[in-house]
Amino acid sequence: MSAEHFEEFVFSQSALQDYAECHRRFELRYVLDVRWPAQETAQALQYESGQRHGQEFHHLAHQHALGIPAEALAATINDDELRTWWTRYVSWQAEHLPIERYPELTLTSPVGELMLMAKYDVIAKLSDGTFLIVDWKTGRPQKRARLAEKMQTIVYPFVLAKAGDWLNDGQPISPDRIRFVYWFAETGETIEFKFSDEELNKNEARLTSLLNEITTSFNFEKTADERRCHFCAYRSLCERGEIPGDLNELEDDEMLGGISLDLDEIEEISF
Ligand code: SF4
Repeated sequence: MSAEHFEEFVFSQSALQDYAECHRRFELRYVLDVRWPAQETAQALQYESGQRHGQEFHHLAHQHALGIPAEALAATINDDELRTWWTRYVSWQAEHLPIERYPELTLTSPVGELMLMAKYDVIAKLSDGTFLIVDWKTGRPQKRARLAEKMQTIVYPFVLAKAGDWLNDGQPISPDRIRFVYWFAETGETIEFKFSDEELNKNEARLTSLLNEITTSFNFEKTADERRCHFCAYRSLCERGEIPGDLNELEDDEMLGGISLDLDEIEEISF
């Protein structure tokens, strides 16, 4: 393998998150494009149902952002959990988002010689000139400290600051005008991150260093933390066990990185 392999590659937060958690998983999923048909959790039906509801929820929110009335969309919902999520969404968005919003937006920005993309659920420009990124989370709610470490929290505001000028009358968006909110369908809670020039510079240095490491070191070792393998689809390929992890015995959500509970991550992987 050589650096040329990455010339056409568009990095995403999901790819960088995989690399951060296990270099080998990044290589299998994004470099070698290996699709390994393993069951990722012991609760396969529960997992599939969660994925399906997540997809349906994102589809509803997208249609709503395109102008279909929330009540008309609510009438199409046949599932109690999804209906509860939708009721929470309708109430939250009415208070926090303007009518005009950009759903399902993908932006790309160069980082050195490489490209980085972010696929947003929603970006909205508020009346005070702030740009609000909202990520609808239909998986388990996560702790702030964990989210602060996620590549998504670093990548999304960075790419908006670098590539969002067309949303701002052709002017670059100042980092201190960017807010990033994770909204959790299960509880209606939000966790918000604010940004600054200093934060942007720090994140740019981190991303540059990380991309440089990936494309020059070719170090794709298996993670030393075998707890990460319990919920990873490549478990048997890596000879890290045959039996899928049990969601009910999970103590730390951080170990869920090997499976994709959020729609954005599923779509980015297929990208
Ligand atoms: S099974 Fe473990 S070592 Fe293999 S890719 Fe998954 S997390 Fe990495």
